[in-house]
Amino acid sequence: MSQQRVYDAVVVGSGPNGLAAAVELARNGRSVAVLEAEEAIGGGTRSAELTLPGYVHDIGSAIHPLGYASPFFSSLPLEEHGLEWVHSPAPLAHPFDDGSAAVLERSVQETADTLDTDAAAYEKLMRPIARDWHRLAASILGPPRLPRHPLALARFGLRALRSARGLAESLFRDEKARGLFIGNAAHSFLPMERSPSASFGLLLGALGHAVGWPFPKGGSQKIADALSSCLVSLGAEIYTGVRVGSVADVPKTRTVLFDVTPRQLLKIAGEHFTGRYRRALECYRYGPGVFKVDFALDGPIPWKAEACKRAGTVHLGGTLEEISAGEAAVWRGEHPERPFILLAQQSLFDETRTPEGKHTVWTYCHVPNGSTFDMTERIEDQIERFAPGFKERILAKRRMSTADLQRINANYVGGDINGGVMDLRQLFTRPAARLTPYSTPAKGLYICSSSTPPGGGVHGMCGYFAALAARRYLG
Ligand SMILES: Cc1cc2nc3c(=O)[nH]c(=O)nc-3n(C[C@H](O)[C@H](O)[C@H](O)COP(=O)(O)OP(=O)(O)OC[C@H]3O[C@@H](n4cnc5c(N)ncnc54)[C@H](O)[C@@H]3O)c2cc1C
Repeated sequence: MSQQRVYDAVVVGSGPNGLAAAVELARNGRSVAVLEAEEAIGGGTRSAELTLPGYVHDIGSAIHPLGYASPFFSSLPLEEHGLEWVHSPAPLAHPFDDGSAAVLERSVQETADTLDTDAAAYEKLMRPIARDWHRLAASILGPPRLPRHPLALARFGLRALRSARGLAESLFRDEKARGLFIGNAAHSFLPMERSPSASFGLLLGALGHAVGWPFPKGGSQKIADALSSCLVSLGAEIYTGVRVGSVADVPKTRTVLFDVTPRQLLKIAGEHFTGRYRRALECYRYGPGVFKVDFALDGPIPWKAEACKRAGTVHLGGTLEEISAGEAAVWRGEHPERPFILLAQQSLFDETRTPEGKHTVWTYCHVPNGSTFDMTERIEDQIERFAPGFKERILAKRRMSTADLQRINANYVGGDINGGVMDLRQLFTRPAARLTPYSTPAKGLYICSSSTPPGGGVHGMCGYFAALAARRYLG
């Protein structure tokens, strides 16, 4: 890294938002360097052989409806840089104890067909949102601003602002539709009785219909690799193994964009901020963490419900009551006996991930922030419940507690993978209530991580909007 040169921008952290910010600046002719603390780039989009040689596991993110739908990623030639998306026949399955399953299919109609008496209610809810997705994307995947399509946004927003339980119970009568909806809503990490948990149920369901829930062939690392290849082709520099502890560690530059969360930003740059901004960052709230287990199997998961074999993602937890109780327990600081499990089985549809006939499974459940409790047995029991014989197929496993996750990525504070709670109070005012959430009171210093709008997930939109703010400053 050149100590003489003055960069236009240095990006601290190479997660999808850091790389997106760097690409946006570089493609507009700016000189950019990225500094990454770890030896591998990618943050939440890394993959590695976590269990056995030849078995590729996603360390963080696995399934990418947001990445595939991202207006910023779509504007880049990522396929030319090696990114290939895989769509499983059905995006998601949600099995029940009786061996049946609700299935999120690409078609609204075919999904409704799996929902018995709630078929019509499901269609009425989802069809307009799925149809309007491309008009809604700019509003949902960006900072608060005047909407270009107010009617479509109002139709979405009025329901999205409700609690998931409230919306599911008011619209659906049966366990199947309720379970399917609440499983998607639980991605919010919020109690299902709290708003706007319904927004995640609506958004993820609609994305399944509008664009699918694909994943990259070869692992999530391919997203980071494609972004970095694109970035290098634009003349930018990337340095790994460089942990920035203070602003003084950053080479000479006109702007710095931090792909870190408020707690780290305070340590690195706190002395440059006003007291008011510092206090806002100190009050920033982190949410529950995750406990993750990756498995290597000597065959596919023996699901009771056939439909699960067609889905890249499977949600385990059954009914609205069970999932809601589990998520509420996590918020009370407890570890549910039957946790809600998010499971991905990419190797069923991507032969590059395992030796022939073998499989990988990616799972996690929510736990209280900073939890040290080992959830491995409870996760295995939940899978066995819906797939008797699963345990016999395990060749190897790798567990990761909240502390393990934070060790491999400093942004996962206490195991929180969303860069902070995404409730009504903090969804739009992350990291602090400011007109431009990406700028700080210190000239030239910006925050570009998922602790800014639109929040967690691999979409790069936080980085893109932060880069726009930095571009305005650079003139
Ligand atoms: C287990 C798990 C499952 C997930 N599943 C999904 C999913 O299926 N789909 C989805 O869309 N999202 C998922 N996510 C969330 C997603 O990965 C994150 O929301 C996303 O990666 C956030 O991007 P980011 O760029 O803001 O931060 P990160 O990806 O966290 O990147 C931050 C980077 O900054 C680096 N860094 C931190 N501090 C410093 C420092 N001081 N100096 C230098 N570098 C530093 C870190 O090492 C890291 O590389 C998951 C995350 C995890 C952990």
